[in-house]
Amino acid sequence: MLKLGEKEKGRMMNQKKVFSQVYRTGQEFASSTLHSPLRSSSQKPQNSNKISIILCEYLLSMEEEGEIKKDQMIVVEGSKIHSVGPIPESLPQAEEVIRLNNHLVCPGLINTHTHLPMVLFRGLGDHLTLKSWLEDIIFPLEKKMVNPDFIRLGTELALLELIKSGVTSVCDMYFHTPVMAEVFESYGLRGVLAVDMLSSFSDWKEDLDYLCDRYKGNNQLVYPAIACHAPYTCSAELLKMSAQEARDRKLPVAIHVAETQWEISEIKKRYGKTPVAHLKDCGIIGPHCVFVHCVHVNETDMDIMVETGTPLSYNPESNMKLGSGTAPILRALEKGITIGMGTDGAASNNNLNLFTEMDTGAKLQKLSHPSKTISARDIFSMVTSSAAKVLGLSHCIGKIQAGFFADIMALNLDHPHLYPRNDLLNHLVYSASGGEVDFVMCHGKVLMKESEIQGVDMFRVYASAEMIKEKIKQAL
Ligand SMILES: [Zn+2]
Repeated sequence: MLKLGEKEKGRMMNQKKVFSQVYRTGQEFASSTLHSPLRSSSQKPQNSNKISIILCEYLLSMEEEGEIKKDQMIVVEGSKIHSVGPIPESLPQAEEVIRLNNHLVCPGLINTHTHLPMVLFRGLGDHLTLKSWLEDIIFPLEKKMVNPDFIRLGTELALLELIKSGVTSVCDMYFHTPVMAEVFESYGLRGVLAVDMLSSFSDWKEDLDYLCDRYKGNNQLVYPAIACHAPYTCSAELLKMSAQEARDRKLPVAIHVAETQWEISEIKKRYGKTPVAHLKDCGIIGPHCVFVHCVHVNETDMDIMVETGTPLSYNPESNMKLGSGTAPILRALEKGITIGMGTDGAASNNNLNLFTEMDTGAKLQKLSHPSKTISARDIFSMVTSSAAKVLGLSHCIGKIQAGFFADIMALNLDHPHLYPRNDLLNHLVYSASGGEVDFVMCHGKVLMKESEIQGVDMFRVYASAEMIKEKIKQAL
């Protein structure tokens, strides 16, 4: 439970009052606030050519996949990394010098599968299996609760959680994607935002047209994509149409695949094949398609994924919580499938923390295959360099490298559980919990400094989340 001091309580009450005055529902809210800034207006606009220097005691750039270097300097110019190298005797001129002593500096983490606004459903239906959780809790709640207002608030809360744990990029599939895109732009995080082709809340074509017109190729924070929920919820016709749409618009596709044994039986009954084979026949296959879960894929399915270059998003905590099973990640790695990690929605996890995901994901594989091992480097690449490949963005994110976007996070190493510093990469995967992250930069802009998220009133978001909780309870 959140424990608040008197000062915070008073502040929260004031926020509650303010929020109750401005809170409206539905289209009225969406249209009236569509272009209003969410961040504090006192924040200075960023100079696009601003030079910042980051001095790192320890740097894990992922350029050499796992080598940690001491006393390194990152020069950031505008949104990009200008250079990376040893700290020189005299520093070059810069408008800002950020000193990260006693810190491990890493690429901003990449979450390859989320449903961000579902943070508002956190803690509901925790005792159910996937099918019952979806059909008895989530789908009915979404029908009653989802509107642009809900999406905006849920996305804000989720982005705060992501920044706090060092995440700078996500691939999300949910509803009212244009509203989400606006929040991403405002908060300064990078999002591959997939429009749900099954959505009954808005017209997918209108949303996709809007996102492609506004963002495709001309904005480097939001990347439009297509979301097909799953082979058992989307008809073969819809999948084929989505595949064509993705080809025509040159967009990525995100889809849940082979998540449960029930899905395997159902697709076999309907089409006489596995979900992966069915998707291949429908044209949903290839390097631009993110296959999420793949818990119950067989050898032939994985061979198809290798042949077609189809990447996989591994979501161990969600798979465990919903009792879906363990994805054959070690086998997929051996075969050469590109793998990224995801948390899935917070309602089936119950957080968006990639540190706990790495720890759990690695241990789960060791538990399933006691005679095999997986390295901390392989696991960490699943939230950085390999995750960037999954999203088709390995040319610009996932590493701290000259020419890449300046997506950077740092952990304060002064915590008892990070001593002795025998192997910081192992500590990242097995000892850190995300709370050590106190600095985050995305696209060259500092989003969190000394643990303070810049330019966002977190208490406004917390108070709003507490208020909407009551409406959700009534809708249950
Ligand atoms: Zn999901």
